[in-house]
Amino acid sequence: MLTLSKVFNSICYTIFPPTCLHCEELLRSGEEYLYFSCYAELPLNNGSWISPQQNNIRDRLDQEVNMATSLFFYTSDNIVQSLIHHLKYKDLPKIGAWMVDHFVFPCDSIYSKSIDLITSIPLHPKKQKQRGYNQLDKFCERLSKRWDVQYDPEVLIRKKHSTSQTKKSKIERLKSLEGVFEINASKRKNIQKKHILIIDDVITTGSTIKSVTYLLKEGGVNDVSILSMSVVF
Ligand SMILES: [Zn+2]
Repeated sequence: MLTLSKVFNSICYTIFPPTCLHCEELLRSGEEYLYFSCYAELPLNNGSWISPQQNNIRDRLDQEVNMATSLFFYTSDNIVQSLIHHLKYKDLPKIGAWMVDHFVFPCDSIYSKSIDLITSIPLHPKKQKQRGYNQLDKFCERLSKRWDVQYDPEVLIRKKHSTSQTKKSKIERLKSLEGVFEINASKRKNIQKKHILIIDDVITTGSTIKSVTYLLKEGGVNDVSILSMSVVF
């Protein structure tokens, strides 16, 4: 069987050789998702790794969260945009696990020591059914294993679709997020007095994270922190 699957893989490799998700250059052996030059050019948000309690992501969230870290900077048409696009729309949620393996290590000690529970921003059930997966699951599962911290994707429920937040005023943004999320009633007991880490893919205005943070704190959570794959600047 092993030989057969090896043959199959090598046929696939010949017919559909893997290419870089950003520049489409043929990948060399050992490379995953990105050609070495794109990998080297990834816009890392090192500042937020080093000081998760004092950085401009946390400022953007009005310092409502305990720690805020983003792995990369996101701009339209950059390498990170290509990665997230494939993660979300091209059935490649495994990119999330790859991000954890390659880029999370600077956050290991500070986060694994203080976080009690990991959760993620949920999709609307209809949207998740359409896509077939939540793009954050593989990232969270790998993180949970790495830090030996429980991952519960069902702490929050998304009741409504929310429209894009970027072109709205601050008040419009908060209004439009009213009632979008709620705490899953069956999870309330498990979150009391805990320090919860929320995972998201792209932080834009930060209003989603802020509204979820208020909700969790109202629901009895002691502290909320955020780790996002990327942040728009
Ligand atoms: Zn490339």
